[in-house]
Amino acid sequence: MFGSVVVGIGTAGLVRIRDMLAPLPSSAAEKLSVKGFISRRILEEQQGVKQITVEDALSRDDIKVAFVCTENAAHEENIRMFLEAGKHVCVEYPMAMTHKTAVDLWDLAQEKGVVLHEEHIELLTADFKQLKKDVAGKRLEEGFLHFTGGPLKPGFGFPAFSGIARLTWLVDLFGELSVTAASMEEDKENKYMKMTAQLITKEQKPLTWIEEWAPGLPRAKDINFRFDSCTITQLPPATREPVGIFMQDLVLFSQKLLGQVPRDQLHAERRRVLHCLELADRIQQLSLKGSAQDA
Ligand code: NAD
Repeated sequence: MFGSVVVGIGTAGLVRIRDMLAPLPSSAAEKLSVKGFISRRILEEQQGVKQITVEDALSRDDIKVAFVCTENAAHEENIRMFLEAGKHVCVEYPMAMTHKTAVDLWDLAQEKGVVLHEEHIELLTADFKQLKKDVAGKRLEEGFLHFTGGPLKPGFGFPAFSGIARLTWLVDLFGELSVTAASMEEDKENKYMKMTAQLITKEQKPLTWIEEWAPGLPRAKDINFRFDSCTITQLPPATREPVGIFMQDLVLFSQKLLGQVPRDQLHAERRRVLHCLELADRIQQLSLKGSAQDA
């Protein structure tokens, strides 16, 4: 069994506790057992699970795994601390706020001989799986993905990082990308943010990615993918799967702990995660350069 601790009791942290208490029967996730949680607040038991201290979690031999579910700005420090202590880490996306940090953390995990896993539930939804099937074999001419939501919570970072799930969609659908331009509009007083990134595929086809965050904006995605043969403007209808997306991710992470995931799959996943963070870095640099020039 892999005794686990959950760090950060927000939406994701509570779901992790819930799923470990009732893992998918006969799946690798049954090998995880939640031993406690860590919070900066003093909290009561959560779903029957007790709060423990960081020192306790780091030193206990029966705790082998940490789930890092804090706001993004605290991910690096938490991951590093648990990896240094020889614990496996599952972190909610994004792993880090720079590409370089993510490379360092992955190197550290390798050095310590432990698993470092970045959750990507957005790739596990029924509608995304159907979209991927629908896109397969088609030649993209031009694409557009506009996400709205918000406002962006403090500590969640630059929109290219907090919105890494949308970027991961684009990379998973269309392959590795390059950034040609990026800009950012911000009205701090009204908590309004709009990031626009211009990307191109290896075949030099343009993709526009917009993240727009403000109070009252609905959480929604608008897509327009024009192919040589047709245009997709809506997510395909797909029947919700019986196994929830966080549970699917938990099973994948547990399979990694048990050494059941093939090396080439691990390699491809690491490459995709690092590629997306590298793109996010570049988008941030270009956006901030543009904002500095405007000022
Ligand atoms: P959240 O705002 O619910 O919680 C984030 C952190 O804030 C936690 O550390 C929590 O302890 C702390 N927190 C929450 N409420 C608090 C309060 N009232 N006072 C003090 N601290 C408080 O965020 P979340 O949605 O759980 O996101 C956590 C991580 O999971 C992020 O990295 C996010 O990108 C990732 N993630 C979340 C989801 C999701 O569905 N929520 C999906 C994918 C990835």
